[in-house]
Amino acid sequence: MSDSRDGGCQCGNVRYRVRGAPLTLAVCHCKQCQRQSGSAFGMSLVIRRDDFELLTGELRDFSRSSESGRSLRCTFCADCGTRIYHEPTYLEGVVNVKAGTLDDTSSLEPALHIWTTSKQSWVAVPDRAKSFERQPG
Ligand SMILES: [Zn+2]
Ligand SMILES: [Zn+2]
Repeated sequence: MSDSRDGGCQCGNVRYRVRGAPLTLAVCHCKQCQRQSGSAFGMSLVIRRDDFELLTGELRDFSRSSESGRSLRCTFCADCGTRIYHEPTYLEGVVNVKAGTLDDTSSLEPALHIWTTSKQSWVAVPDRAKSFERQPG
């Protein structure tokens, strides 16, 4: 993984840059991530908040409870609604960038699969990834 990566929303108004090495890359199979993505799971690139830089566009957010009952701020493009990152309010200084919004996703390999208890049955977790039935920690 390189030191700087750019991403953006679907309409192109929001562009952002992530610096430094990410803390980890997690796949979340919880029902909330399935609903948000309209797909099988969500991908979270966990980074330090200071390593996220908004280059263009406007972000808006709303808060919801996570599957584990903690509060999460969900940030999205004000124009097209593409989810850009989640900010766990219980983990200061960390944001979970929705990794599918990065321009180059070719080098992404999730180290962690969480909430496999609600994983769709056809999704296989690779042996080399750690997996947790619920939220670890
Ligand atoms: Zn947009
Ligand atoms: Zn989730």
